[in-house]
Amino acid sequence: MKAVQVIGYGERVRVGEVKEPAIVDPHDVIVRIAGAGICRTDLHILDGQLAEAFHPTLPYTLGHENAGWVHEVGPAVDAFSPGDPVIVHPAVTCGLCTACRSGNDMHCPTWRFPGVDGWNGGYAELLRTSVRSLVKLAPKTDPTRIAPHADAGLTAIHAVKRLAPFTYPGSTVVVIGFGGLGHLAVQLLRVLTPARIVVVEADPGRLEWARGYPVDAVHASGEDGGVSVVLDETNGLGADVVLDLVGDGRAPEHALRMLRKGGVYSIVGYGGGVALNHLDMINRELTVIGNQIGSHRDLIDLMELDRSGRVVLHTRCFPLDEAADVLAEVAAGRVPGRAVLVP
Ligand SMILES: [Zn+2]
Ligand SMILES: [Zn+2]
Repeated sequence: MKAVQVIGYGERVRVGEVKEPAIVDPHDVIVRIAGAGICRTDLHILDGQLAEAFHPTLPYTLGHENAGWVHEVGPAVDAFSPGDPVIVHPAVTCGLCTACRSGNDMHCPTWRFPGVDGWNGGYAELLRTSVRSLVKLAPKTDPTRIAPHADAGLTAIHAVKRLAPFTYPGSTVVVIGFGGLGHLAVQLLRVLTPARIVVVEADPGRLEWARGYPVDAVHASGEDGGVSVVLDETNGLGADVVLDLVGDGRAPEHALRMLRKGGVYSIVGYGGGVALNHLDMINRELTVIGNQIGSHRDLIDLMELDRSGRVVLHTRCFPLDEAADVLAEVAAGRVPGRAVLVP
């Protein structure tokens, strides 16, 4: 079958023929891929930024935002049948540990991460995963366009649910960065919190795009990353919550500076960092929340919001064959919304 593989760091992906996956564990499912979303994590992988965290053996197939149809099921699988439309939770987990039983799928000590840790992902015609990772879609749903929900949407809903208890009517949530995740995050904030939503973004095209969404204010980040506009918006007090979807450059520093006392810094974007000054943390009673993808329950909730039209994903489809060029376009920030590869 055709697949798109990482062959070396700093190199373009290779589109070529690989062996089809086969059932290994009785709980395995082979999914025929309808669409696989391109994520910035794929670019970080190709740069070698995740090599130290995951130690993947090269080559392997990219793609952790997958949706499609059940193709083949292992002997222990009876809840799914070939042809069922499904979205694939990006983690393969054991189901037996305390973390799994608590619903914290991402904390499973033996979890695997297809498309990232060396387990072959969904930039291919077929993907092997576990039945535990599947969420069945409403009959006749086209899984292609919703593939990015498997990670982009899932991460957004997870982060928004975790910051929601810190919001109240009149509170302000600042979203730093408006792109594939940002356009979902603002819709989720609207549905799941009573907060005012303020978007801060550097790119003029993305600023314009953000203005088409139900947000309370959209600002160019400018010289100080949006700190002064956020202070202006909040009577000089700062935001209750900053959701940082950028996480590199000076974004983390600016995020902390735009928080009010008792504020919450919610981290999704990565690549950078900030030194925490303990006296400042104590005096301002700040809270920092890290967010890694999301739970199975988060994905089920997100599919209901998608089905009912309350969260709309902006996707653009490309042939799998063009993966190398599309990845370059995504890296250059020239694909608005989320790119989906279609085998
Ligand atoms: Zn991702
Ligand atoms: Zn587990």
